[in-house]
Amino acid sequence: MCAVMTVFMREREAVEHMEYMREALHLASEAAEAGEVPVGCVIVRDGTIIGRGRNRREASRRTDAHAEMEAIAQANAVLDTWRLDGCDLYVTLEPCPMCAGAILNGRFRRVCFGARDRVMGACGGVFNLFMENFPNKTAVQGGIMEEECRELLSAFFTTLRKPV
Ligand SMILES: [Zn+2]
Repeated sequence: MCAVMTVFMREREAVEHMEYMREALHLASEAAEAGEVPVGCVIVRDGTIIGRGRNRREASRRTDAHAEMEAIAQANAVLDTWRLDGCDLYVTLEPCPMCAGAILNGRFRRVCFGARDRVMGACGGVFNLFMENFPNKTAVQGGIMEEECRELLSAFFTTLRKPV
């Protein structure tokens, strides 16, 4: 591929990354409005969003009600299969070990996240599950719209700590 074409492809990819991350951010804002830690997620296959999810831990009182798990369940239903190879997952916060495990089990092509999670991150924030020698190789890309994703989380926690 010629250099101009490579640059063009990279730029187009960056625009797509932002488009999907913006949608994930929208879901994260919805979570914040509902009093949940703002994390949002979309799953994309062939340019179409086939799964959407947001954090619902408080309302559902379920340990596993993370944004990624909801989006994965939706994608499974849409494609009618547990196999999600060829799918890309966009999430505003670096996936935790549970979600990273689900992503590996789903055989995702790629996981793209916004903000780094130094507390629970399993894509390099604490450790990197995707560097292990599992048979399925999922590419990891972090730092997409990182500032916006981090800002949403900090704003949420600042509001939470404000005395009434
Ligand atoms: Zn998780």
